[in-house]
Amino acid sequence: MTLDEYQQQALKTASYPNVGSNLTYPTLGLAGEVGEIANSVKKIMRDDGGELTPERRESLLAEAGDCLWYCAVAAHELKTPLSTGWQHFDSIDSWLDGGGPYGDLYRLTLDLQLALSDFIEEVVHRRHEHRIFHVIEVLGEFIHKLGGTVEAVARANLAKLADRAERGVIHGAGDNR
Ligand SMILES: [Mg+2]
Repeated sequence: MTLDEYQQQALKTASYPNVGSNLTYPTLGLAGEVGEIANSVKKIMRDDGGELTPERRESLLAEAGDCLWYCAVAAHELKTPLSTGWQHFDSIDSWLDGGGPYGDLYRLTLDLQLALSDFIEEVVHRRHEHRIFHVIEVLGEFIHKLGGTVEAVARANLAKLADRAERGVIHGAGDNR
């Protein structure tokens, strides 16, 4: 699956006022989801004795999928296909295998916040600088740090949304709808 294919699928479940001319909605949503990641990573220290448990890993990968969804929709609002940055999930995944400058999950989580802040600055000041791709890049590194792949996270995200759509619970609250 390519990034653009993921984006097209993600857009099918985009349901908010003025889809196509509303960058505010996915930006707010992305801020919320990146915050969910930070909150969950924090609990590795508080509740999990500093160990990444399988349950925590799974929930973090799901949250990363939520972030990816908002990135895809935000890019759509910016009239940008996700492939502007990369051709295929495969190329993202192999490119990120190099490791990069980030040492650990905590640091990457903070980096995600930084990348998001940068993107929000772009939105607030109405510039079009493709900073959403830096958010996706850091998100990809975060996913790799957890031993996942962007494509697997994307597929799981689409499966979750399809399941919710089938059960008529796209709108609502809670991660485990
Ligand atoms: Mg979430």
